[in-house]
Amino acid sequence: MQEIAKLKEVLKAPQNIIITTHHKPDADALGSSLGLYNYLISKGHTVKVISPSDYPDFLKWMKGNSEVIVYDEEDGSKSKKLVEEADIIFCLDFSVLNRINGLGEYVREAKAVKVLIDHHRDPEAFADYGSHDIHSASTAQLVYKMIVSFGDKALITKDIAECFYAGIMTDTGSFKHPNTNKEVHEIVAQLIDLGADNSEVSRLIYDTNSLDRLKFLGFALSERLQVYPEYHAAFFAVSMEDLKKFNSKTGDTEGLVNYALSINGITMAALFTETEDGTKLSLRSIGDFEVNTLANQYFSGGGHKNAAGGKTDRNLSETVELFKKIIVKYNKELENKTPIE
Ligand code: 5GP
Ligand code: MN
Repeated sequence: MQEIAKLKEVLKAPQNIIITTHHKPDADALGSSLGLYNYLISKGHTVKVISPSDYPDFLKWMKGNSEVIVYDEEDGSKSKKLVEEADIIFCLDFSVLNRINGLGEYVREAKAVKVLIDHHRDPEAFADYGSHDIHSASTAQLVYKMIVSFGDKALITKDIAECFYAGIMTDTGSFKHPNTNKEVHEIVAQLIDLGADNSEVSRLIYDTNSLDRLKFLGFALSERLQVYPEYHAAFFAVSMEDLKKFNSKTGDTEGLVNYALSINGITMAALFTETEDGTKLSLRSIGDFEVNTLANQYFSGGGHKNAAGGKTDRNLSETVELFKKIIVKYNKELENKTPIE
């Protein structure tokens, strides 16, 4: 994989470009994609963003949102053709091709120059150029740094700055996680200088709840949270029926797992969500406990040290049973000096 700075030469002539990102994109995935999209358009390239799946309404304010192609909402042929015909494919905020579902094989086979910009662990070797840094808090800041390294900081408009700000804000847990270092604050300061309205971006993402979503949160906290103080672990197990009862939409469970992690003395938290073909899970941890390793070993997943995800074809209760066995096995590693009251 060649360093991303060398891509500047390739981008000198107008190119036919595809940008794609992971299944169920979050603010970093969509924000880095649309920030890059708007920049590349302004440079005269032909650009399309393809998302493997739909995404939450609270991300739909980003400039360029209405142009995003959702792969699993079309018959797939449009996306396949675009990927086959592309000169350059940017892969943002994911490190393994199975994160983009059926699109993954098209990207693998494509003749295009492939570019990976990402911060997840254990990247698959498929890209020709890349900016990959597991110590980076977000993909959005890696894209920002690429544009700056090309000498194009002046082309970052308010809209682009807000896309990147959204990615950095959410992937740092609103500047709370240990990945929030000096560079993060320096970059967001520059984004504010470039016009980003930080308070408004925060409102659009966090304070646009439906009443159903808040009621679901209340229900999940009172009825679906299980705490295992002796193992310093807690989790939510949510069924499809629960989701239906509260008219849940994509994104409504986002952030829920953090309530389990916020209990004083917890080392690892999980959210299990029943799906049509099994269970999807989100894992979070505090300190040295690596949830990406656990997600990979038991749930064909991955991610970061303190935030990872995966899925299994086991049903919800089987997944919960497996998880209970896992916390017993990792008893020592989960130890935490703070008792849970
Ligand atoms: P979340 O729990 O918010 O869905 O995801 C936490 C982190 O793990 C994110 O960085 C996300 O990209 C990653 N992640 C979530 N699900 C999966 C998965 O199924 N496979 C892999 N490799 N990573 C995942
Ligand atoms: Mn990210």
